Amino acid sequence: MARYTGPVCRLCRVEQKKLMLKGNRCKSDKCPINKKRPAPGKDPKARAGKRSDYGIQLREKQKLKRIYGMQEKQFSLFFERALRMPGITGENLFVLLERRLDNVVYRLRFAVSRSQARQIVSHGHVLVNGKKVTIPSSLVKPEDEVSIAESSRNLTIVKDALREFGKSGVMPWLNLDPDAMKGKFLASPRRSDITDLGDIKEQMIVELYSK
Ligand code: SF4
Repeated sequence: MARYTGPVCRLCRVEQKKLMLKGNRCKSDKCPINKKRPAPGKDPKARAGKRSDYGIQLREKQKLKRIYGMQEKQFSLFFERALRMPGITGENLFVLLERRLDNVVYRLRFAVSRSQARQIVSHGHVLVNGKKVTIPSSLVKPEDEVSIAESSRNLTIVKDALREFGKSGVMPWLNLDPDAMKGKFLASPRRSDITDLGDIKEQMIVELYSK
């Protein structure tokens, strides 16, 4: 699966929003958004005009896609799946994104960013219900147990992430045993439970894909 390999902070600067893509750096003074650096581009004044509806919808989609570190093709497949589910499509999309294994590994504090979580999964360090799973986009179900493989428990990145981020606890739909390096996905969250992604307007994304 192709992935973005350019400068990560640039993605936040384009959106003028902290997408929290770099772990500790995002919370530090080194974050370019904290420094109020302008959006990249040759002529910042040219961006100041009013955005079209399409432009606003596109930006909402790009923000969400970038937060979860996905490419267009995979994101649109998630959207199609959300569309086929009963209920509200925009909310379904959030639930599906939260169920991604790399996201759950990040949310359980085994990694400081979703991209690091993706790496941990694809390198075979993560088990789901005791079995190795190496596909970051695979979906976790309620009651699934996600753990770090016995042979990987000395990994510095995992130990550091747990030490650094474990203090702040996990989201309410998860349960973490940091000493055993395992956690549980208790239930799929509701949209209103996902409070740390800012003001993303999922309805705009639905409208964009409905064109
Ligand atoms: Fe870079 Fe993180 Fe700041 Fe985004 S939030 S600009 S990834 S340091």
